[in-house]
Amino acid sequence: MEKIKVLGSLNIDLVTNVDKTPKIGQTVFGSGLLKLEGGKGANQAVSIGKLGGKVSMIGMLGDDNFADILKENLEKNNVDTKNIYVTDSEPTGTALIMVNSNGDNSIVVVPGANFELKEKYINEEQLEGTAYLLSQFEVPKETIAKAFKIARDKGIKTILNPAPASVISDELLSLTDIIIPNETEFEIITNIAADSRESIFNGAKQLFSKGVKELIITLGSKGAFYINSKGESYESGAYIVDALDTTAAGDSFIGGLVTKLSEGRDIKESIEYAMKVGAITVSRKGAQASLPTKDEIEAFEGVKNEKR
Ligand code: ADP
Repeated sequence: MEKIKVLGSLNIDLVTNVDKTPKIGQTVFGSGLLKLEGGKGANQAVSIGKLGGKVSMIGMLGDDNFADILKENLEKNNVDTKNIYVTDSEPTGTALIMVNSNGDNSIVVVPGANFELKEKYINEEQLEGTAYLLSQFEVPKETIAKAFKIARDKGIKTILNPAPASVISDELLSLTDIIIPNETEFEIITNIAADSRESIFNGAKQLFSKGVKELIITLGSKGAFYINSKGESYESGAYIVDALDTTAAGDSFIGGLVTKLSEGRDIKESIEYAMKVGAITVSRKGAQASLPTKDEIEAFEGVKNEKR
């Protein structure tokens, strides 16, 4: 099995329930307070760890108690933490989440230490022996570009999940081997809505002309679509499940995909595996708590919705 590095964010999600979302100037009581481990980087790393992949994370924490919780949680889930650094200038990344009685969320994300993961923290040594480098947009893009440049020189495959959605420089695209957006992210990066097969092909062509080699667009309950710069494509329907909570669906799918690629499986097998991982994740509540283990995937017997 080959080694995977995740360059990304670590957050603590503080969640409370309120009757009504407070208006400006208003103070309300919240009931319950959950401290949940999150951040797209950590979610994807934990997904890989739970599925038996050989994974380590490059990230930044603050000098506080939340940092200890996050680090311990990664270690518990088989994620190596020796390249996680600590800054005393910013707090550990934190999301403040209010859920009202209608189930609507109001969220404030404090990127904190995640945005302190500057280029100077990236070096060749960290990527020694790595086969796949995976990143998302919750750490500075310059840092991702530096790591991807080193990866390219060393023959490491680079995988970019452009989430949360934002535009990508041509430089970063030219350093990306596999890009994995959802429909919203696809539209932001290509300016083309993913509303038909033809428009996905057109968006893909644009990305390939900038140097990307493979695209996987995740389509929620409609599955996923793969296309590469040689013109080969593959489509996979999602499993029919009772979707309780779609939080971390994309993170879990990506975790499953990269785990299988690192075991030498081809792209089709890896997508099929990821589809099961995503299905189980959305059928359970929570983010990291809903991520399945390797054994749960082996025991999973689902039926796919082949029609899209
Ligand atoms: P994101 O969470 O990034 O928006 P998607 O919603 O596209 O990502 O979901 C990622 C993957 O999770 C899908 O490709 C699919 O495998 C699985 N998935 C998401 N929603 C559902 C659903 N309602 N039913 C079954 N599988 C789902």
